[in-house]
Amino acid sequence: MQARTAAAATQLQNCTLCPHRCGAARATAAGRCRVGAQAYIASEMLHMGEEEPLRPAHAIFLSGCTATCSFCTAARFAFRPTYGAVVSPAQLAARILQRQEQGARAVAFIGGDPVPHIPFIVAVRAELGGKLRVPLVLNSNLWLTPEALALLDGVVDLYLPDLKFGPPGAHGDCGAALGGMPDYWQVVTGAIATLHAQGKPLLVRHLLMPGHLRCCTQPVLTWLAQLPGVRVSLLTQYLAPAHARGALAQPLAADDIRTAGELAATLGLTLVR
Ligand code: SF4
Repeated sequence: MQARTAAAATQLQNCTLCPHRCGAARATAAGRCRVGAQAYIASEMLHMGEEEPLRPAHAIFLSGCTATCSFCTAARFAFRPTYGAVVSPAQLAARILQRQEQGARAVAFIGGDPVPHIPFIVAVRAELGGKLRVPLVLNSNLWLTPEALALLDGVVDLYLPDLKFGPPGAHGDCGAALGGMPDYWQVVTGAIATLHAQGKPLLVRHLLMPGHLRCCTQPVLTWLAQLPGVRVSLLTQYLAPAHARGALAQPLAADDIRTAGELAATLGLTLVR
């Protein structure tokens, strides 16, 4: 783990963790995500909002994100990489062990997006050593590079990717247009397929978005059905933030929720709630 910590730390000099591939020296916070060399924690808590197998999770919300989703409900810290408190890997490891004693069934790194914080997460895992008895969960867009994915191998116990957007088509490219993530479909499905082929524990989330049943939900569920045994969490709690525009400013239609549920059943997907 020490070698992995050192390898991850080199990303702080020349960052290629996400497909923006800025090559930024992170201490200057000059990359596209503006995340510096230190991780800021917006909040941490025992959280009852995760899927049943993970409840309660010790949720750790890291500030900053590689995406710029126009409907982000966590903009307060996702778009402010210095929101919250700086803690050292040793300090966070101590808090994780406290939360474990309080009954946490998992420790979940969330954002924003955790990808810019991979060197920090690897360092925290190294601090924890054999004392961590619950799975370390990465809840991420998984819009990341192969080298970032490799750094997580053996560090993450359960991958919890958000597969939000469908592939580009006649309607446009939702991942790039709404999320600011070029090549979204190719990158994220590529990472999920790699993890699945490696037999890594995976639970894929998909949030239904108003007006995006055909362009996003249907192709996402259809693609996931090709991965034998993959567990899927279909989220229907979309809440439009005040800054959302167009269809995304509307509530989710009950018909869309029903149609998505029927499609998941028809496809034989294993749903986790
Ligand atoms: S994680 Fe941030 S600094 Fe690193 S390549 Fe992506 S946008 Fe650039």
